Amino acid sequence: MTPARRKHHDWRQILGEEFLSIFLSIGLLVGVLFMLASQTVTEHRIASQKALDTAAFGISTYADSLSAILTKADSVALLAARRLSDTDTMPVPLQKQMTAIVQDDSDITGFIHILETGVVSESFTFQNITEKMLDTDVILSRHRDAWIEPAFLQSGELGLKANEIATERGIWRADGSFAGIVIILVSVGSPYENTPLEKFLTEAKIRVAGANSENILTNQYALADTVIDWVEAPAETAYWQTYHGDEALHSEMARIRDDIVLSHANLPGLPLKVYMQISTDRFFEAYRSTQRNAIIASIVIVAVAGVLLLRIRLDRQTKRSDERKRRALDQRLQFALDTAGQGLWDWNITEGRGYFSDSFYRLLDIENDDDKIDVTDLRQRIHSDDRRAFNKALNAHLAGQTPSFEVDARIQIGDRDHWEWFTHSGSVTERDKFNNPVRVIGLLKNIHHQKLHNLSLEFEAFHDPLTGLLNRTALEDRIARTHAKTVRDGAPYSLVMIDIDHFKHVNDTYGHNTGDLVLQHVTSTAANALRFEEETLFFRLGGEEFVVLLPDTEGEGARFVAERIRERIEKSPTKLADTIIPVTVSAGIASYRLGETPEEILKRADHALYQAKENGRNQSCLE
Ligand code: GH3
Ligand code: MG
Ligand code: MG
Repeated sequence: MTPARRKHHDWRQILGEEFLSIFLSIGLLVGVLFMLASQTVTEHRIASQKALDTAAFGISTYADSLSAILTKADSVALLAARRLSDTDTMPVPLQKQMTAIVQDDSDITGFIHILETGVVSESFTFQNITEKMLDTDVILSRHRDAWIEPAFLQSGELGLKANEIATERGIWRADGSFAGIVIILVSVGSPYENTPLEKFLTEAKIRVAGANSENILTNQYALADTVIDWVEAPAETAYWQTYHGDEALHSEMARIRDDIVLSHANLPGLPLKVYMQISTDRFFEAYRSTQRNAIIASIVIVAVAGVLLLRIRLDRQTKRSDERKRRALDQRLQFALDTAGQGLWDWNITEGRGYFSDSFYRLLDIENDDDKIDVTDLRQRIHSDDRRAFNKALNAHLAGQTPSFEVDARIQIGDRDHWEWFTHSGSVTERDKFNNPVRVIGLLKNIHHQKLHNLSLEFEAFHDPLTGLLNRTALEDRIARTHAKTVRDGAPYSLVMIDIDHFKHVNDTYGHNTGDLVLQHVTSTAANALRFEEETLFFRLGGEEFVVLLPDTEGEGARFVAERIRERIEKSPTKLADTIIPVTVSAGIASYRLGETPEEILKRADHALYQAKENGRNQSCLE
């Protein structure tokens, strides 16, 4: 990896982490704050809505004047009338709704529903007295013939207790037909007990307006001047719904003060608008606690985010300084490796990944940002002739059989068909509790030229340069080994000593160089006459003398081999450009005799050769 590239990589990494952290922190912060804000708004809405819903039952608990009470009573009557005109689709039975209102509201003490036939359909509180005391015919007739503003009556007029007021409302069905009336009974205590009814009626009308008399509502609108926001009453609020298809009861709610909402509603089908002021104070508890929690949570989140960012900053500083140290250390290591001409690899077997030094890549001429390199690749790069030895050494060490490993093996350089000799060494630096290797560190060092030199020295030490055959040193070594085996297991062995006949004459006639060519030709002819394993034990003793070592061979067998060689050479003269040079050879054969030394057999073979020469040459003689 080049320094520039590494730097770029780290920069991206650090930036990435930092960005991610900040992004997540801010995201979290904004998310939670948004959640809290939305929760707070929702709580406020819920609080206002609850107030509105409650008001729908009691119309208003804010009523602090008789006119307000009457307004409220009339609103209840209106609601009841609306419900009654469409009883089929009413989700909550009227009886239940009205009972709830009456029980909930200290001003409203009862209600009665009289059908157009005069029959009392539903009632509460004054059920017992109604049928006896109310003149239902008169009451019905007041409303049946024409739509009228609410009739506010002193209860005395209805034959009831004197300190109560009744509000009557006529009920019409959707088709316009008369369906009876509803009476709401309002209890009016002191100080209104003896005030004239007319006064109450006038005041009451201010609050419940007919469709054509909106100007009466100026006072109420004045209140709404401070309206911040009109809120739709939700469709689910049964009390603010009509039941004619999709036509929703238009109802709006406005916050006119922190703790008061104003609501107004058009009652469809009825030429009226109902206004209500509703104190929301007691509904805002949840809203305020949410608001408080939101503020606390915001502070906590900001604090946590601050600490987090500080942590990231500190972490980054530490990381940078660590990185600098690591890089310095790495540079020293690289320098040491480069100077020593060594490559280092550090492989984590469990994780299947590792580190390869820059010098490693350079030595093997591999692209250094190639992530593909691993120990398997390393094994595969080893020359097939050396792979066995390499794997054997490495595996034995991995298996814990050796304290470390060191093996010379050729390894492929780059992608070319070129291998160079390296010394591979290393050892496992970490094992798990089962003694399985976890981490292994290896070094490789190029020993190519030295190795080749050694190999050629080794070759030269045991080979004859003219013919390429093994030399006398090699012969002595091989005979000693064969001999030792024979002494051990008694297997026979034989030696065939061969000498070219009248070779001096060849030299004299054709010159020494041609003599060399003849020597080479005779060597290859003899080698071709031998079987593979015999051929590997074919030596040039010196001059024009050769020896074939034949393990596991008796004298007769050896004579057979000697004869074959002799015949071949006789039949295969050396053919040169302008001349053909025939030569013959003589051979002396000796087989191992019990108790003999290798020198003694050689001597006997030499003697046998002498015999063959004596006998006229071009023949073999077994001693
Ligand atoms: P014979 O063995 O049949 O008794 O006769 P000879 O002429 O072959 O006699 P001898 O084996 O004693 O002579 C060997 C000769 O081989 C001596 C030398 O000139 C020649 N000679 C030895 N080594 C070489 C060599 O490497 N190249 C050449 N051209 N000649 C060699
Ligand atoms: Mg000779
Ligand atoms: Mg000779």
